[in-house]
Amino acid sequence: MTEKTPASMPIRTRFAPSPTGLLHIGGARTALFNYLFARHHGGAFLLRIEDTDRARSTPEATEVILRGLEWLALTPDEAPVYQSTREARHAEVALALLDQGRAYRCFATREELDQMRAEAAAAGRPPRYDGRWRDRDPAEAPPGAKPAIRLRAPQEGVTEVDDLVQGSVRVANAELDDMIILRSDGTPTYLHAVVVDDHDMGITHVIRGDDHLTNTFRQVQIYHAMGWEPPRFAHIPLIHGADGAKLSKRHGAVSVLEFEREGFLPEALCNYLLRLGWGHGDAEILSRDEAIALFDLDGVGRAASRMDYAKLTHLNGVWLRAADDARLTRDVLARLAENSHLTPDAVAEQRILMLMPALKERAKTLFDLAQSAAFLARPRPLPFDTKATLLLTPEARAMLASLAPRLEATDFTVAGLDAALRAFAEETGRKLGQVAQPLRAALTGSTTSPPIDATLAALGRAESLARIAAVSES
Ligand code: GLU
Repeated sequence: MTEKTPASMPIRTRFAPSPTGLLHIGGARTALFNYLFARHHGGAFLLRIEDTDRARSTPEATEVILRGLEWLALTPDEAPVYQSTREARHAEVALALLDQGRAYRCFATREELDQMRAEAAAAGRPPRYDGRWRDRDPAEAPPGAKPAIRLRAPQEGVTEVDDLVQGSVRVANAELDDMIILRSDGTPTYLHAVVVDDHDMGITHVIRGDDHLTNTFRQVQIYHAMGWEPPRFAHIPLIHGADGAKLSKRHGAVSVLEFEREGFLPEALCNYLLRLGWGHGDAEILSRDEAIALFDLDGVGRAASRMDYAKLTHLNGVWLRAADDARLTRDVLARLAENSHLTPDAVAEQRILMLMPALKERAKTLFDLAQSAAFLARPRPLPFDTKATLLLTPEARAMLASLAPRLEATDFTVAGLDAALRAFAEETGRKLGQVAQPLRAALTGSTTSPPIDATLAALGRAESLARIAAVSES
């Protein structure tokens, strides 16, 4: 039975990813919930890199996790613990259990285990170790055989977990076999390592995906065998795709760094992930501080949540409009340099910053934002898209030639430009759009941009007139 954590105990949570590839957004949500829970209760959030699977773990994958967490502002409060450095301690605990008679040496050969597995499969039962060395004298072991160490698990009664999300879940001990805690080569098994590490790190709450729920019973048995108090567990439902299947690449982006590349803001992704599986009334847009103030595990639902990319994109637009213009400008400059092969200088930066309030109104992602700002950083001659080329008829070019001195005479403020454009349209019997659209094509090379007066003001007098001259004199 899981005991309640004494109220006086400081709360410590952890995120324990295996560095085998990317930082999946399901993992990011687990990290977020652990982080928010710890912060809400004034506790600590820790990170453990579960790199014991040497064949599958890579330093690059660890780097991806650390970078992803940093980007999401979910940095741990203590230095990360690398599970692979703790093998001696895992072995020490296994040997302590052996000494106490809570574990035993098992000399079953691979052939014997294969046979047990085959028999179980033939009978349609899950594979189970039959306990053949549980009470056998190790002196009967074949000479030179290296034993694994197995937990002497209780055979009667039930193991129960009072899960903070799933409620009370239990399993009959007769269903669980004696698991290996230390392999014959001296390496710990994953389930054992997790328990020893969580205990030594003082973890009070284990919040993780509900795919780990069945592991929990076995882990609780190790806690009990050691006489350690288990932490509280909270198993959160996994994230599914729109079709109800576990979220994978075929549904869309799943890697946190991919979302970053695609132009999502970390605060938007966190906001979305928070709302995916956790609710507090109607609250949709939540800052980090609001989330910390409100988050608790009783708001976590039991049903699997479905990833909705359209909703995430909408939320991203909301956060984009709230974001600081200087920060967005820095991001746009980096994207233009990287993706559009432009080398924006200080002048381009100034233009982008000036137009940012209007640009961000129209963008859903940083990717869109950079695309819509690219014209401000392009050197002349500008490339023209098809629609812009079609707009720039000889008649339109002539109109732009007569408009140029009118614009030149203004103070190049948004208000001054607006007044001049209106007056020109009226005097020449045109609708404002008939003036603005060819002008937009000349200035941007496309047919979409923020309001024309703001676009002119951001490009500035010299550049605007040069771009107009480039089309009206050709
Ligand atoms: N390393 C496990 C994983 O990446 C998590 C284990 C745990 O949270 O206990 O799925």
